[in-house]
Amino acid sequence: MDIYPRYTFKDVTEIDPKVLEGKKLLIFDIDNTLFYSETIKIRKDILHWFKGVKKKHRVVCFSNSFSIRKRRPMIEYTLGCEVYLSTERKPSKKLFKEITKRYRVSAKDVAVIGDFHFTDVLFANRNKATSILVRPIGGDHKLILRIARVLENVVLFLLELVSPLLGKH
Ligand SMILES: [Mg+2]
Repeated sequence: MDIYPRYTFKDVTEIDPKVLEGKKLLIFDIDNTLFYSETIKIRKDILHWFKGVKKKHRVVCFSNSFSIRKRRPMIEYTLGCEVYLSTERKPSKKLFKEITKRYRVSAKDVAVIGDFHFTDVLFANRNKATSILVRPIGGDHKLILRIARVLENVVLFLLELVSPLLGKH
């Protein structure tokens, strides 16, 4: 299980354009990557950055959030970008196949950008796409997300402890 991101940045606006060079499709996470968690609120600088990126790359958004269907029209309107819907969720391999088939791209030309190791980073890595991790832009309001975040940090900490034994890093 490879949950280590290929690249890490403070937020999307800090992503080195070189990292995106040649990528034909960028798959964006929504909550805490572009928008504040479970909202349709986006930071102005992030929206500005996103509009610039859209001129150079094809983009699509995907969220595991249960509220995404409700928020989807407003998010699509704000970004001018499709919010892909599926019965699958990240890090599903089937979902990756669905999206790459729809956009006719191969994995090596895809980058996944998100704030969560176990969904976004794993989704990219296990499908041989480029993983880009950003720090969450806001807090998680839902308890379940806060718990997931804590668990993620615990697992990352434990992996860091055993990594000398595994020869990683
Ligand atoms: Mg997220």
